[in-house]
Order: sequence, then structure tokens, then C-alpha cells
Amino acid sequence: MAVYRGPVCRLCRREHEKLFLKGDRCFTEKCAIERRNVVPGQHGMLRRRAASEYGTQLREKQKTKRTYGTLEKKFRRYFEEAAASKGVTGENLLVSLETRLDNIVYRLGFAPNRNTARQLVRHGHFSLNGKKASIPSMHLKAGDVVEVLEASRGLAIIQASLAGASRRPEIEWLSVDKVKLAGRVLSAPVRTQIPTPVNEQLIVELYSK
Ligand code: SF4
Repeated sequence: MAVYRGPVCRLCRREHEKLFLKGDRCFTEKCAIERRNVVPGQHGMLRRRAASEYGTQLREKQKTKRTYGTLEKKFRRYFEEAAASKGVTGENLLVSLETRLDNIVYRLGFAPNRNTARQLVRHGHFSLNGKKASIPSMHLKAGDVVEVLEASRGLAIIQASLAGASRRPEIEWLSVDKVKLAGRVLSAPVRTQIPTPVNEQLIVELYSK
């Protein structure tokens, strides 16, 4: 699947849910879900048929993939690794997605959304444990420290994102220092600490067919 470059609000409307892909706008009445929560396209207003079991599982997978901005191949790989690891597969999958560097940059409030976080990481604005880090898919573990590099601290997008970050849910497994622009992973997250509203069991069922 190619990278989706269309309007991101369309993805939320497709899932009938806020996926928080834009940033501050997602918390205002300008949000497309608040204004027009119908499936995009010519027939979006028509009544939808009840989804099949497969359809429900597929939508949950698409929703999760879109929320974290991963492509199908990579998402599938995360699932296979999650299934091969000890513990509950669905939870392992979510932990894997949550502990990516781009997601952590977003969760710490240094970027308004995961897409921008990915871009900022790729452009080399962060360090991980004192060394420059520019791979968005790197996985972080307890004790790791992410910092905005000194030269990037004045970036308007980072400052604006920090100013609006108080609207987002608090993340218990991360701590952030808004003066030093640094964040630490306190522990690996458990499911109850991940505020992504997905039913990961449906994804497990889909991929286990
Ligand atoms: Fe989704 Fe945000 Fe657009 Fe609302 S504003 S539809 S939450 S991306």
C-alpha cells in the first residue's frame, strides 16, 4: 500500500471516530467528525449495512494502523513479532506501536500529531540517550531519554505543540520536562495505560484466520 497523502479527516470519517491525526484542531468544533460524521464519498449519507464479522475486524485493524500511521507490511510484522512474544498478542502489538520513537515524541507533546512527529524525527531534531536519533520506528525502553536538540528548541511547531499538549490525555509511563524539552520512558506501558480506543482482540482474530 502506498503512503496516504489525502486529507486525513477523511480517514476519521471513514472510521466514524476521531483518530486525532491533525493536532489542536481535533479538540475543537472545527473537527470534521463534530461537523459531519458521515462516511466520505458520494454514498456516504446512505444508511450502512450492518458490518460482517470480517468487516468489523478489518475496520479495527485499519483504524489502528491509521492512528499510528504505519503501513500494512510493517503493521503485519509488528503483529507477527507480538504473536511470537510472551504475553497477550493484542497487548504486545499495542505496546510495540506505542514505544516507537515517533509515537513517544507525539505523546510527550513535542509534535501536534504522529505524522509531524515522524517528520521531525526524520529531520534530526531529537536525541535519544544523548545521541542524535532520526529513525521514527526505533523502539524505546524504560529509562530511555528523548530530548529536543538545542538547535531545534525554538522551532515554532514544537513550541506550539507543547502549548496545546495539555488537552491530551496524561501518559503515566512517560515523564516530560517542558523547560529542558526532554522526556523519559518510566516503564514499558501496560494496556490500561494506553489511551488508544481500539479493540486489539479483533485484530488478532483477523490475522489469525
Ligand atoms: Fe480526525 Fe482530527 Fe480531522 Fe477531527 S480534526 S476528523 S479528529 S483528524
